[in-house]
Amino acid sequence: MEKIKMLTPLVEMDGDEMTRILWKMIKDELILPFVDLKTEYYDLGLPNRDKTNDQVTVDSANAAKRLGVAVKCATITPNAQRVTEYNLHEMWKSPNGTIRAMMDGTVFRTPITIPSIHPAVKFWKKPITIARHAYGDVYRDVEIVANEPGTAKLVFDGVNGQHEEVVVHEFKGPGVVLAQHNLDKSIRSFAHSCFQYALSLKQTIWFATKDTISKKYDGRFKAIFDEVFQEYKDKFEAAGIEYFYTLIDDAVARVMRSEGGFIWACKNYDGDVMSDMVSTAFGSLAMMTSVLVSPDGKYEYEAAHGTVTRHYYKYLKGEETSTNPIATIFAWSGAFRKRGEMDNLPELVNYADQLEGACFDTLNEGLATKDLVNLMEGITPKCLTSAEFLAAIRERLAKRLGA
Ligand code: NAP
Ligand code: MG
Repeated sequence: MEKIKMLTPLVEMDGDEMTRILWKMIKDELILPFVDLKTEYYDLGLPNRDKTNDQVTVDSANAAKRLGVAVKCATITPNAQRVTEYNLHEMWKSPNGTIRAMMDGTVFRTPITIPSIHPAVKFWKKPITIARHAYGDVYRDVEIVANEPGTAKLVFDGVNGQHEEVVVHEFKGPGVVLAQHNLDKSIRSFAHSCFQYALSLKQTIWFATKDTISKKYDGRFKAIFDEVFQEYKDKFEAAGIEYFYTLIDDAVARVMRSEGGFIWACKNYDGDVMSDMVSTAFGSLAMMTSVLVSPDGKYEYEAAHGTVTRHYYKYLKGEETSTNPIATIFAWSGAFRKRGEMDNLPELVNYADQLEGACFDTLNEGLATKDLVNLMEGITPKCLTSAEFLAAIRERLAKRLGA
């Protein structure tokens, strides 16, 4: 078979530990035999980030902004222990944080579902994608402990003369007080990313706040979403999808009774809490993909899990591991599909579909990695090592592609 052609390169962001090992295996087994792969390669492995003073992370984010589609391997976010382990010059910041800030993007997380793994919520038939606003609110708050009676006030001094002062509370005894903020610009970017991604998936999008109680603060989120949606209204109609706004408590109740198959946009705190709930209810972190979408429609695909350190240490001792590569494979397939759509390459889109199809074929035959074996029901699973599992996927992919 002739290898599938690409036009524009993908931005390839390599990473760390067990996922770096899987990264190479996936390329060797599932990509290079079938695709005439074009990438602009950035090594975001911790040693190279340290060597380049983290410039490589900045360069890779700029490349993603320039080329439009990136695929990223999981990377270590250094802590004190990692500084010693890798003999680092500095405790470098989270690469994901740097890339997200540079792309001004929103992260969308979607579970990969299979018939033999039943969601904890029996009504859920299709994946629910969570989009979390990643700026402000309680994550950038300021807080005061009042140790004695007194007055707490909220003051705004504008540079052009707006002056507002409100009493938060007249304390009769000890208590606590907190102030939080957000920015129109950040909310607007969030809204654009959400509507862009809904169109890209052709899925309805929900958004919820508590604007009945927080009329100005949450009211602003609702108003900005409404305003930005006007730009997308016609495209949504043409795609047969909807923007649905409701109150957060109503949204939670409806999500539980829904079939899934939609995107749920959440304010920062709601997204933090609900993404953990939804991902756990769907099964496994190793079956969760993640994509960063910028407001102007640039995409960076990755797995939601980390570098799987515990497995890497076993691998270094020469032991075979049964680490699940599915979410990382789906990061690649997501990137190929998007690149194929942007460059009008139906064969590349088809390759992405067949690659995912081959993963489903393998899992639906009960061939799986260790993490999934205990979750599967109604099927007798066979536990494979990562290498055996990838070989099984390759066999099915070759068949699907007629290679
Ligand atoms: P992790 O790498 O997600 O792994 C936590 C545990 O979850 C593993 O020990 C394993 O459980 C299970 N697991 C996760 N992915 C799996 C897979 N593909 N196959 C099988 N089991 C899987 O999280 P962590 O151990 O907290 O973090 C490790 C490193 O990753 C840290 O340095 C952190 O900074 C980094 N991290 C990076 C990203 C990112 O780049 N997006 C995200 C999160 C964390 P068992 O050990 O029980 O088998
Ligand atoms: Mg959380």
